[in-house]
Amino acid sequence: MSSAEFQPIQGMSDLVPPEVTRWQSVEAQARHILDLYGFDEIRTPLLERTEVFQRSLGDTTDVVQKEMYSFEDRGGRSLTLRPEGTAGVMRHLAGRGPDGQEARVFYWGPMFRSERPQAGRKRQFHQLGAEALGPPNPAADAEMLALQLQLLTGFGLTGCQVQLNTRGTFEDRGSVEQGLRDALQPHVSELGADDQRRFKENVLRVLDSKEPATRSVVASLPPVTSFMSPDSRRYLEEVERMLNLLSIDVQVNPRLVRGLDYYVHTVWEITHDALGAQDALSGGGRYQIELGGKTMEGVGFAMGLERVLTVLLQEEGEAAKPIPGNLVWIVSLGESAFRENLILVQTLRLRGIRCRLDLSGRSMKAQMRAANRAGATTVIIRGEQEMEKGTFQVKSMEDGKQEELAMAELLQRLAPLHVHNA
Ligand code: AMP
Repeated sequence: MSSAEFQPIQGMSDLVPPEVTRWQSVEAQARHILDLYGFDEIRTPLLERTEVFQRSLGDTTDVVQKEMYSFEDRGGRSLTLRPEGTAGVMRHLAGRGPDGQEARVFYWGPMFRSERPQAGRKRQFHQLGAEALGPPNPAADAEMLALQLQLLTGFGLTGCQVQLNTRGTFEDRGSVEQGLRDALQPHVSELGADDQRRFKENVLRVLDSKEPATRSVVASLPPVTSFMSPDSRRYLEEVERMLNLLSIDVQVNPRLVRGLDYYVHTVWEITHDALGAQDALSGGGRYQIELGGKTMEGVGFAMGLERVLTVLLQEEGEAAKPIPGNLVWIVSLGESAFRENLILVQTLRLRGIRCRLDLSGRSMKAQMRAANRAGATTVIIRGEQEMEKGTFQVKSMEDGKQEELAMAELLQRLAPLHVHNA
């Protein structure tokens, strides 16, 4: 068999120790902080009807046009592996009645996009996201940004930068698009092929382009706020004032629009210099999503966890090996000792002691080697002699000392391990 057979699909990864323990601690920290802010977890399916994403994200967005893993199921329905978390959450909340319109929820899990894999861009990646439903309110937007920064510093990240802008209201959109089209018109031939298509279909998307030629044209455009109503500009100023109050530093980037159609008012992106070309750690903003005759309003963000881990590992060096917990390894010599040890291992586990029974039936030497490899801290050995006397040989792997104990003494000796492993 070639080694490729052991690899996951391109752009997807197996997460294994020791790195996976770093993920677990980031997740635990995230749950703690989200709880401080009053967010409840929501777990929606990985698969949704394709239209859930088309409706929420917008038909002309890159995600919907090029990046979704969609397929027909056996009943001929078009289904899609979720490329992001908000649409599924909104589908759920829209169906939930009035309390859905003021929910505060977070999600954590894999997302799927069929992009060209490269550093920082995967086909299966993980996002932590949160949504706070409610009508436009600069304080809610500022709180969402504060939450993300507390998460990032809680994970141990320093040096994050926040870029902030506004998309204005849906009513502003006509004049923003017209203004941008007029300003871009003389430069259309300088744009890349993809951006020329975007110019026609959804001009805002041109501002998002990563193409160097397009970016230099975009840099010369007037800020999008200059095409918006004074109210929309005031909303952004109010968000900035509140962030200032919370001592949160942001940089207003007048060309930041974010790639999805549902955004209104505040949008942001949090970047980190250690990441290279794909430098966004987290993105979010305020949205208004029409679903099944309901209008879902709120503010939210999605954070890329692979990128968080990349920065963490770069700053901390290799993932630290987890501190091994206590492990009791049970060695049996002979069939009747093995049978009794089957009961012993169950007894110990019911008492909360972490233990393994060697199932191999191999020689004493081989079983001791396995105990060593597994990182056992204590080994219990039972053979014919011990069976007759009703005792156990108990060997400490830390100092090599071995003692013969009766059952009651054994349980007493192991009792403290329960606390260590809790
Ligand atoms: P988006 O809503 O597309 O801006 O995604 C939010 C965050 O998810 C980004 O800031 C990235 O950190 C992360 N992200 C998005 N796409 C990918 C990808 N293909 N691979 C890894 N992380 C991603």
